[in-house]
Amino acid sequence: MDVQTAKLQVLAYSKKAYKEKLMAGTSGNLSVCIPEKHCFVITPSSVDYNEMQAEDLVLLDFSGHVLEGHYPPSSEWRLHAGIYRNIPRVAAVVHTHSPYATACAAAHYTIPPVLIEMIPYVGGSVEVAPYAPPGSEEIVQTVLPILKTKNACLLANHGVVAVGEDLQAAYINSVYTEDAAKIVLLALAAGLQPQSIPEFSEHEEDRNNEK
Ligand SMILES: [Zn+2]
Repeated sequence: MDVQTAKLQVLAYSKKAYKEKLMAGTSGNLSVCIPEKHCFVITPSSVDYNEMQAEDLVLLDFSGHVLEGHYPPSSEWRLHAGIYRNIPRVAAVVHTHSPYATACAAAHYTIPPVLIEMIPYVGGSVEVAPYAPPGSEEIVQTVLPILKTKNACLLANHGVVAVGEDLQAAYINSVYTEDAAKIVLLALAAGLQPQSIPEFSEHEEDRNNEK
């Protein structure tokens, strides 16, 4: 993929995510990796999604050096770079503070695999990575053990990270994570106990009930 195509993809999905309320204000960040060039295109820090243009996106190498762009990169660039350096199957990362999934993240609540879409897309339950300060290198170490086998995880007290082989896949994984969180929280709000799909139960209910 060339850099300009990557920029246009990141721009289109950023605006879509903002419009669909997966991201509020200037929170959240998206990126696409260009593995053959050892670099990635990421959203800039603190730029209004409505105003964002392709030339505002930032091209970074995996060490965080800016190769193209007039804005600083998203403060979460280390998270994106760390995932690309360590998980070769991943070529896109979507980080949001989507409200229902972030409510689960705030409660350190693993979203159980209650919907069939969660199995092929997300990889089952959406687990919670332990808290690490936003923007820190430590965040990378908290998410890697989960994202090596799954396509989404929650960041404790922070938000959601979804990954995929391309941006469309990473985006869909972030949407299914939010959808599952919403449905689970609706069930809990009604006083019901969400149940995992039996053959995919990974004892999340037990894990959440133990807390
Ligand atoms: Zn964040």
